[in-house]
Amino acid sequence: METLRGGGTTSSSPHIVIVGGGFSGTLTAVNLARLAVAPLHVTLVNHGRSTGRGVAYGTGRPEHLLNVAARNMSALPDHPNHFVEWLRTRAEYAGVPDVRLRETFMPRRVYGDYLRSLALHYAQPLDTRSRVRMETIEAEAVNFKTTGHRAQLVVAGGKTLEADKVLLATGNESPAGLPGSDAIDSHPAWCGDPWSDWETRLPADGDIVLLGTGLTTVDAIITLLALGWRGGIHAVSRHGLLPQPHFKGTDDPHFPPAGVDLACLGLESLVRLLEEHCARLRREDANPAMIVDKLRPHTQHIWQAFTDAERLEFIARHAARWNAIRHRIAPSIHRQVTAALASGRLKVTRAGIASVKSRGTKIGVELRGPDGATSCLEAAFAINCTGPHTRFSATRSTLLQNLLHSGAVTPDSMDMGIRVEPDFAAVGRDGRRSPFLFAIGPLLRGTLWESIAVPELRSQALHVAQTMLGEVSAAAVDPGWPAVEETAVIEYLI
Ligand SMILES: Cc1cc2nc3c(=O)[nH]c(=O)nc-3n(C[C@H](O)[C@H](O)[C@H](O)COP(=O)(O)OP(=O)(O)OC[C@H]3O[C@@H](n4cnc5c(N)ncnc54)[C@H](O)[C@@H]3O)c2cc1C
Repeated sequence: METLRGGGTTSSSPHIVIVGGGFSGTLTAVNLARLAVAPLHVTLVNHGRSTGRGVAYGTGRPEHLLNVAARNMSALPDHPNHFVEWLRTRAEYAGVPDVRLRETFMPRRVYGDYLRSLALHYAQPLDTRSRVRMETIEAEAVNFKTTGHRAQLVVAGGKTLEADKVLLATGNESPAGLPGSDAIDSHPAWCGDPWSDWETRLPADGDIVLLGTGLTTVDAIITLLALGWRGGIHAVSRHGLLPQPHFKGTDDPHFPPAGVDLACLGLESLVRLLEEHCARLRREDANPAMIVDKLRPHTQHIWQAFTDAERLEFIARHAARWNAIRHRIAPSIHRQVTAALASGRLKVTRAGIASVKSRGTKIGVELRGPDGATSCLEAAFAINCTGPHTRFSATRSTLLQNLLHSGAVTPDSMDMGIRVEPDFAAVGRDGRRSPFLFAIGPLLRGTLWESIAVPELRSQALHVAQTMLGEVSAAAVDPGWPAVEETAVIEYLI
């Protein structure tokens, strides 16, 4: 166990345990330290990825850039310029004009440094009278129980932490397996975890096959280009759509139309309205992707108002196109991908993945095209870039499986994550709000749809810290702390 801080707490201080030390868990710990006015003990339990950085910002590769401009990447919703101000503490950005720095897509590892420095600041405060004792445990949390008035979190190795509240901030899981992938799990030419350091395992030459065409694939393409990969790079997905770049355009005053409540329209009418406005923007020579930006502040409400049948239909018919337009990349990254396509170094194939199998030292990827015709790609190295696993009941996490089996949590109606109340308290199988368990981050995808990027997660981390503090002791919340609402909608727009 690594104790980052010994503070002025006593054994009777409330204890909040956070499972997951990525952005969501770390920022909740930071907000608890910022908000608490009475002694509090906070323990961050993290394993598998770098504490403070998580999956996204744990990359060591300099070519991996944020897909959001610096001006909208503050980790603190009540200090919108915090990240840009922090960047000024680094010599390499000290002289960059503000207007340029705010629009820059920073390396993700620099953002990881930012999160680590924030965590360290609150875990080891210079003020020795700090009320919050924060510690981290580098271990996997595997089980959760209750003893009437307290919770118990069991970590691998058998240690049990007694807690008043437990937050699940377990983040993104590695991609789901593909047909045949279990049998090639330890094959040297197969990589099932695209966020591992696979570049150290690359063969000397040959073709690389990337399964998927989303943001994770773009990361892999950019790394292969940075490494000077000489072989072919193939990316495959059912729709064959690569992410689009951020762009700047003039505002469109006609969308959303005045007086229309987008959340009340229902899927069919909403799609019709969007298609009309996209067609209008095309006629006006404007980028119709702007509609997605303007819809973004409303997407959580729209998703929550959909029926389950509408949500399923959206996922089946529209989600792939939505994701390709919604998840933008830095223009400089887009230029590299476009150049690789133009030069033939990168090929994108529109096909389903029928199976993956061992072929001696290589991996055979069997494809089924839109017309049903089958073909095969032979990969010197193949990477599963299909994006985080999203069927919650099939989670590979021991802790989440145990929580499901005990009924302490229950899947949301889409089985994409866990069911929560609006204040992030978990709802058990009995339909009752848990007095101990909370959840934020990608675990709320089924409830909110948009629950993965920093602009949403920073608000969740602050709100859940306020709620948990309020419940452990009403007196522990600073009454002078202003209620912070979602960041201004315009800040979502890139
Ligand atoms: C490659 C990538 C790039 C991204 N880039 C951006 C970007 O540029 N801008 C943006 O806004 N968003 C980006 N995102 C979205 C990203 O999901 C969020 O920004 C954020 O990093 C999610 O943080 P998290 O803490 O919820 O999850 P994670 O980062 O996944 O962290 C969860 C942590 O919990 C740990 N954990 C899980 N289970 C247990 C357990 N049982 N016991 C102990 N520890 C456990 C995991 O190992 C991990 O360390 C990106 C995502 C990815 C995958």
